[in-house]
Amino acid sequence: MYIGIDDTDSRSGMCTTYLVFPLIEEIRNHGLDLIGYPRLVRLNPNIPWKTRGNGAISIRVGKGRGKKIKVGEMQGEEIFAYERGTHVFEEIDITRISSYFALKDENTNPGIILSPVKLPEKLYWRGVREIVPIEFVEQILRRYGARWYRFKLGRGIIGASAAIAWKRRNYTFELLTYLPRGMWSDDRFVDSKSVVEMDKNTRWTFDNYDYENRYVAIKPNSKTPVLFGIRGLIPGELMRAREMIKSTPYNSWIIYLTNQATDDHIVRRKIKDVKPYESVKILGTVSKEPKTIEGGHVIFAISDFTGEVECTAYEPTKGFRDIVRQLKLGDEVEVYGGVREEPFTVNVEKMRILKVAEIRVKLENPRCPVCGRKMESMGRGKGYRCRKCGTRLGEDAAIYGFLKRDIKEGWYEVPVIARRHLAKPLKLMTVRRENL
Ligand SMILES: [Zn+2]
Repeated sequence: MYIGIDDTDSRSGMCTTYLVFPLIEEIRNHGLDLIGYPRLVRLNPNIPWKTRGNGAISIRVGKGRGKKIKVGEMQGEEIFAYERGTHVFEEIDITRISSYFALKDENTNPGIILSPVKLPEKLYWRGVREIVPIEFVEQILRRYGARWYRFKLGRGIIGASAAIAWKRRNYTFELLTYLPRGMWSDDRFVDSKSVVEMDKNTRWTFDNYDYENRYVAIKPNSKTPVLFGIRGLIPGELMRAREMIKSTPYNSWIIYLTNQATDDHIVRRKIKDVKPYESVKILGTVSKEPKTIEGGHVIFAISDFTGEVECTAYEPTKGFRDIVRQLKLGDEVEVYGGVREEPFTVNVEKMRILKVAEIRVKLENPRCPVCGRKMESMGRGKGYRCRKCGTRLGEDAAIYGFLKRDIKEGWYEVPVIARRHLAKPLKLMTVRRENL
């Protein structure tokens, strides 16, 4: 059977991912095992009412068979998951789990799903790319014989169903460490130097440290049960990476299988089809040159044969804006980003420059063909005249050259500090899992 949970946390505390621990305790009481890694599934990052990271969790449960792998520790005690399991569908007492819900937060609307079977994959694709109506989810849950629990608005069943429905076509892992329950609002410590060391001594971890902005990205910004989380492609390497980090002591950690860093949220769109709250990739030509507005945001526009759309590199994207500012009319680009409704703009998270436009610029006035003197302009577009002998030449007679462009064709991305969970870092764009 599958269990999915979502929308349980608040901006100020808790974290849905922590709930895997009470869940594991609960299934153990039923004599059941984890089958495969627990899953952390990120959903549409453009949802206006999301809590923090918009991540749901799910686990598969059964009587374990086959190979047993270590996936974490709970208060110092090892947690294992099995390769396969026999089918079960039992009533699970959810009161222990729901006692962790941050129900006082007005944006927290938890949902729990117990499903005897895997849910249809469309629930995942819609959940990661669109805004899904709750009625649509309930209809499917009914059809698949699932049981579900809604708290308050119960919107969490949308994410919970997507987490159960996810098939790992693309995937990464994240190892998360947790503080003991009494310490969640305490100050904590993660040594930056050890993070840099870990970053340099592991091959397939990513988004650990932002060298440009000197920012430790494995540590949450708010006080939550999570002490730090390391993202990567290989569980074994993540376990080694964990041991390299010097931090406040902790006794619980777990490895999640995730859809982070997969670009699963991105859809290809022609400009006329771009809609708010989706994440898109658009091929186009720069049609309005970048300008920096108050707040440090940089705005430009691109167009294709169907229309024009505004794109913004927001202030938090820091040095990425310096790249964007170099765009010129006619540059061919592919822009990746989430679409905002008000103002209607693409919040750029990644960009590929396919062709840097050659821009012809006048370097000098022409010399007089009769007497050799430098000619003077008669005004914009009116051509040139020689002061000495009166010879006239057209505008084209000037000496032209091409503007020196510092920007190069290729991929550019926002720095680690501004990276979204689902965005695939350039480091991973060319990696094939078979070759790891
Ligand atoms: Zn002359």
